[in-house]
Amino acid sequence: MIDACARQIDYIRISITDRCNLRCVYCMPEHGVTSFEHREILTYEEIVRLARLLAQLGIRHIRVTGGEPMARLGCLGLVESLSRVPGIETLSMTTNALLLDGRVREAHDAGLSALNISLDTLDPEIYRKMTRGGDVFRALSVIDEALALGMRVKINAVPVGGMNEEGLVDLAALARDRDLCVRFIELMPVGCGASLEPVPTEAVRARLAEAFGELREDTQKRGFGPARYVRPEGFCGSIGFISPLSHEFCGQCNRVRLTADGFLKLCLNHRAGTDLRGMLRAGASDGELLSAMREAIYRKPARHGFESEIDDREVRRMNEIGG
Ligand code: SAM
Ligand code: SF4
Repeated sequence: MIDACARQIDYIRISITDRCNLRCVYCMPEHGVTSFEHREILTYEEIVRLARLLAQLGIRHIRVTGGEPMARLGCLGLVESLSRVPGIETLSMTTNALLLDGRVREAHDAGLSALNISLDTLDPEIYRKMTRGGDVFRALSVIDEALALGMRVKINAVPVGGMNEEGLVDLAALARDRDLCVRFIELMPVGCGASLEPVPTEAVRARLAEAFGELREDTQKRGFGPARYVRPEGFCGSIGFISPLSHEFCGQCNRVRLTADGFLKLCLNHRAGTDLRGMLRAGASDGELLSAMREAIYRKPARHGFESEIDDREVRRMNEIGG
């Protein structure tokens, strides 16, 4: 559907849990995390019902996210149900990949055609530190298994000052021999990210250009999002940059979010949205849900406003929002 800013909204990120098997430094605190109770999060039946209605409003692409989506029991069963929703053209997952180790074929057969895998470094020690306990070799094995099955793979890396900067070139080099995209996402000042040091896209580009030579623009369409892609000479895959701070892309934003507790969230940085769980559990009809969602999406904020003072700034952490 088209919102009040004339943007076509055809993509939703559905978070199915706020829990995670890792504790990435920019996303979750190490200790003292309180999670939703099971009754607070949408059931899989509720999620599928909303997905059917959202497809009627023009949503064509669903990304399952979290927390860590694979940390919720039965995640791949949900994926299979979502893959059968009429009107949905692509179904993907954002994941740290560790719990997919040994289950990639099952995920593929359930209907996932693409994986976005969070991986900030290839260095086992730095990975362990940044994720507070993860094993990088398990993530790498999932990447190769997914590629072997013909799934589209994107790596999401968040450069953080003083942590993984030195290894960014090695990470980007994954795209030299593999047909995948390595995307560098600017650290956002949300939740735990607010106290860390972002590395601006221009600084990452400069490092990569020094290592790989000219970063030629890659115009091949690689998804529905705001990344800009380049492909250095001799690369099989490409390198992407997502720069919400240095290159705001709100004018082309095509997405909304559904949080694990059933809140239809309209913009990453704003609290604006509507409580669908309350409606679902109060017995709302499909018609009532459709008009609430239509009305909310129409009012999607024009800009994220990270750089300015906004009245309804989001206070939730990324694991609660879904990235
Ligand atoms: N657990 C899954 C994963 O890590 O891919 C899915 C959820 S995670 C919240 C989604 C994405 O948000 C990840 O790619 C992660 O790197 C990103 N993210 C989390 N906190 C961030 C921050 N402060 N700034 C930028 N990206 C962040
Ligand atoms: Fe978990 Fe993903 Fe957040 Fe890391 S970024 S703590 S893997 S939800």
